[in-house]
Amino acid sequence: MKRSTSHQDNHAIALERLKALGERRTPARQAILTLLLDANNALSHQDIHELLKARNEPFDRVTLYRVLDWLVAQKLAHKLAGEDRIWRFNAASDEQHVHPHFHCIQCGKVSCMATVHVNITPLPKGYRSINADTTIQGACPDCAG
Ligand SMILES: [Zn+2]
Ligand SMILES: [Zn+2]
Repeated sequence: MKRSTSHQDNHAIALERLKALGERRTPARQAILTLLLDANNALSHQDIHELLKARNEPFDRVTLYRVLDWLVAQKLAHKLAGEDRIWRFNAASDEQHVHPHFHCIQCGKVSCMATVHVNITPLPKGYRSINADTTIQGACPDCAG
């Protein structure tokens, strides 16, 4: 899913969201949240590490892990496990509803399908759901052609 916002927009959005929390806007928080907003698909720790290095904004792995966990705790990002059991991170969209994820079995990209609604039929009596993580497997637009 392509996002129409530019890198500059995303940086401004990241600042806004951090400001709205009233928490410290550290360089690492700004850089990592902006990167997640820039990305068209969910990113692994490794992806984030390499992309930040390429942008000349390197942070050590401890900082990276800490900031990502913090962003998830603040609900500015969410993390999902792909079929390969690797954690990936995505900036939370404004819509907080449960959405499925798409895992391309050819290139391995995982994307949030934020506009797709999953309708789970009522669970058996006595079960209470907290979170439903649905993953659709298939070919992404880059690979389907
Ligand atoms: Zn693909
Ligand atoms: Zn998602």
